[in-house]
Amino acid sequence: MSESSTKYDVLIVGGGIAGLSTAWHLVQQAAEQGRCVRIGVVEASDRWGGKIRTDIVHDPESDRRFLIEGGPDSFITQKPEGLKLARDLGLGDRILSTNTVRRAVYVLKRGKPLPLPDGVLLIVPTEFVPFALSPLISPLGKLRMGLDLFIRARKDESDETLADFIRRRLGQEALDRIAEPLMAGIYNAEAERQSLLATFPRFRMIEQKYGSLIKGMLAAKAQRASHAPPPGSPPPPTMFVSLQGGASELIETLIKSLEASGVELRPATRVERVEPQGSEFAVALSGAQREQRVSASAVILATPAFHSADLVRPIAPEAAGLLETIRYVSTGTITMGFLKSDVPRPIDGFGLVIPRSENRCVNAITCSSIKWSGRAPDDCLLMRAFFGGSRRPDMMDLDDEQLLEQVMAEVTNLTGATPDRLLVHRIYRWHRGNPQYDVGHLERVDQIEQQLPDGLYVTGSPYRGIGIPDCAAQGKVTAERVMARLAGTGTDTAQAMSEATS
Ligand SMILES: Cc1cc2nc3c(=O)[nH]c(=O)nc-3n(C[C@H](O)[C@H](O)[C@H](O)COP(=O)(O)OP(=O)(O)OC[C@H]3O[C@@H](n4cnc5c(N)ncnc54)[C@H](O)[C@@H]3O)c2cc1C
Repeated sequence: MSESSTKYDVLIVGGGIAGLSTAWHLVQQAAEQGRCVRIGVVEASDRWGGKIRTDIVHDPESDRRFLIEGGPDSFITQKPEGLKLARDLGLGDRILSTNTVRRAVYVLKRGKPLPLPDGVLLIVPTEFVPFALSPLISPLGKLRMGLDLFIRARKDESDETLADFIRRRLGQEALDRIAEPLMAGIYNAEAERQSLLATFPRFRMIEQKYGSLIKGMLAAKAQRASHAPPPGSPPPPTMFVSLQGGASELIETLIKSLEASGVELRPATRVERVEPQGSEFAVALSGAQREQRVSASAVILATPAFHSADLVRPIAPEAAGLLETIRYVSTGTITMGFLKSDVPRPIDGFGLVIPRSENRCVNAITCSSIKWSGRAPDDCLLMRAFFGGSRRPDMMDLDDEQLLEQVMAEVTNLTGATPDRLLVHRIYRWHRGNPQYDVGHLERVDQIEQQLPDGLYVTGSPYRGIGIPDCAAQGKVTAERVMARLAGTGTDTAQAMSEATS
């Protein structure tokens, strides 16, 4: 690569939530330390946000407007960094809790939607009566789940699949009827391959601390109740929240904040190569950029792992080899808007998850307009169906017409709504869009970080947490590591990352 002109202290590759939140944390930390740091963010697409995408869709015939999410529709509040980022960006009064009525989640059993019993926290029952009365699990399956109270805790630190863990503690039926459909439908994950330690480390912690998942979840519930806010104070945010303007409001606000802080944003620009240049890096760009190459003291790759593998291969072939082993699956969503009067049997709750054994072509359906206010006009219903993943990868090959036909056939079967009554619909396909944390994932990530040369970093959804709060948390730690390197304080170690995010 020939001589470069612009010289950054830090260049971030990828303008999804991981890249943008890392840039934002760098700005905050530089300001706190009274340092001037030149930051650039390069994004291949002409749209910021990566998988975060909100569209306002208008049906001209009925003059109705719908807010449609292509990717995430919410983030979890138990992991504080997502909520904190939104609040720090001044979005505190834009945070939207889920509705508090009609909150049921259904599981399809032999073609019939049955509600998950009240008090099932994630996968674990914490209320006896609704659970005992629920037809979702057979009497024998319920007894087996209750054995969790007596089964001895596993004490070692080694990883296992989520499926093995659930089978061990709660039994096969809990896996088939609750855990597998929730994982596939909501998290696009495969319980039979998914690393417990990378995805639900809290379950292992609870097992070790309380000797039982049920006892641990009951204790957590009691603790939450004892910390309830005093009467009259505003209600705390629900377990999942969004923003009034949809998930993209977070991205738009981040972009405005970064622009105002002097961060140089380069959309429609692809990083083609990263090469060492003395103690720095030369970075080759293509696309709508002002120049073909720039240089940077530190480069942060907030790109999918397979893209990062291509970029680091010439400098760190071992890291590239490991990055390539992070498996991805492809998924998509179709969002459909109907008049309520055209849906004879609506799913009366937040959504429906569908076990593999039901052999359907969709994995889950969310009722966006029941879950959130302001997503559809009052007389309409907005539903979002999830397809693809490892269950039905063939769905990704269908063209729009075939896809709509197949998904609508399921929707008609489940709700009675027919395709001729569809007011609006939007299809989003995320090819290789979902990183999978297979058993041993965290060890692999540790090794990747150790194999990267000084000054080159990876961050974001492929590594230490997939969701928006995970990406924001990793962004903060990555920014700390980079600032430490720029200051020459020498605390820039992969170990620091591992400890801070675990
Ligand atoms: C359908 C769906 C629903 C989801 N629902 C939720 C949810 O409800 N809650 C939640 O918390 N999470 C959810 N997730 C997960 C979450 O949205 C993602 O994990 C997260 O947004 C990924 O952010 P990221 O920045 O790591 O990656 P991305 O968003 O993939 O961003 C990476 C960016 O890098 C860019 N790029 C790639 N190569 C280059 C290059 N060479 N040069 C420049 N730029 C490059 C890409 O164009 C992209 O914009 C969902 C995901 C999907 C697909």
